[in-house]
Amino acid sequence: MRKETVRMMKWMKMTWCEKKTAAAAGIALLAASLLLGGCQTRHKRIEIETTSAGAAGSAARGDALSAGGSPVAGSPQQGTIDIDTVYPQGKEDPAGTEGESTWVPEETTAPQEESTAGGDPSLVFENRDETVYVTASVLNVRASYSTSSQVVGTLNRGDSVRRVAYGAEWSRIVYGDGEYYAATEYLSAEQPETQSSPAVSDETETANQPAAADESTAADQPAAGASSGTISLDPDWEYADFSKVHSGSATLYRSEAAERKGITVCVNAGHGTKGGSSEQTLSHPDGSPKVTGGTNAAGAVYSSAISTGMTFSDGTPEAEVTLALALKLKAKLLAAGYDVLMVRESSDVQLDNIARTVIANQNADCHIALHWDSSTRDKGAFYMTSPDAGGYRDMEPVKSHWQQHHALGESLIAGLKNAGVKIFSNGTMDMDLTQTSYSTIPSVDIELGDKVSDHSDSALDTLAAGLLDGINAFFGQ
Ligand SMILES: [Zn+2]
Repeated sequence: MRKETVRMMKWMKMTWCEKKTAAAAGIALLAASLLLGGCQTRHKRIEIETTSAGAAGSAARGDALSAGGSPVAGSPQQGTIDIDTVYPQGKEDPAGTEGESTWVPEETTAPQEESTAGGDPSLVFENRDETVYVTASVLNVRASYSTSSQVVGTLNRGDSVRRVAYGAEWSRIVYGDGEYYAATEYLSAEQPETQSSPAVSDETETANQPAAADESTAADQPAAGASSGTISLDPDWEYADFSKVHSGSATLYRSEAAERKGITVCVNAGHGTKGGSSEQTLSHPDGSPKVTGGTNAAGAVYSSAISTGMTFSDGTPEAEVTLALALKLKAKLLAAGYDVLMVRESSDVQLDNIARTVIANQNADCHIALHWDSSTRDKGAFYMTSPDAGGYRDMEPVKSHWQQHHALGESLIAGLKNAGVKIFSNGTMDMDLTQTSYSTIPSVDIELGDKVSDHSDSALDTLAAGLLDGINAFFGQ
């Protein structure tokens, strides 16, 4: 207890301005653990700072997360709340966490880290607010500033992230739901050249392996996050040859939650393909003309391969907001046990609408494209339905799949509504889209609002929660 308190005092001194956030997060976690009864009697202590505290701290942190129902969620937790009981350092897993390998046993903690939670100048952080790029092929995103802390996800070469604090060894970055840490040495203000990836690769070159491998290597494996492999468009896949822009790749993340669902959700952050609007693709695979307007007018046989997207009234590009929401949804899905196929995780991916759709068709169980509409009246969320006009529903693959698309759309709208999101009219709008014209899995373009809708971080959290609720309902989870 004393040791922990001293560590926390040092930490508080170092970053006192975060104390309030930490306390708020701690109270939220405490409330969650109390609400979810059955845990509070065993788990008297909630450790929410990830330091090199070893088994006691990390295991307790795992408890706090499991009390919240998502052992791999890895939400940003810092600070320590002592209620009354302290688990002995280096002892076994406290009751109730068996089978949840979300914490690092003390034996795997490098001894030199014991001193780093204190006054080590390499761990002093300076506040920043800047965009940086990942220079490593795959960079671990960690719960804290230690290679023995939990991996909550990975970033790929060329990904852009917001850095909010800089340290000589570790940077604090915004990732998914909150703030995490990545090795400073692999973050650069300059955008690196990206190279196209092989068709499918499960190889991950993890950048921040500790220098001395041996036993600490195990601790640096993505234990609670998700491993990834990239997926490029295979020209043999159905409809692949209709795509014009496909040198980029999607990334498949496998959930490592205790209970995996065996369901892959494709999360498509709408837009974000440089030059995509100057290429044209067939609106329909059979060459028939579009039956409604949209980005391209009704009657058009060709559509832009992928459009740029709108700009919010406050000047924010739609593609930036769809990406921010996609990352939040990804984190929630992985924590809930879904595998996630991410079409785009940086400002540019060279995959047009057909390439995104075909990759989803072949590698996912549903496809959700995130968009905001171009109206300016905060009209609320809706999904695009397949029009019952001009023979659209008689054309394959629409004919065989439009009802699944609608069922998914209805579930998502119901989930958003439950989360308190404003819904437009009956939550639907007929639209002849390239995405649905080529989809062979349940596939929805969902518009989460429009140019004047709130797209703040908390609004996106609400949207992600609503979408997860809808996805659960659709799959009967
Ligand atoms: Zn859009």
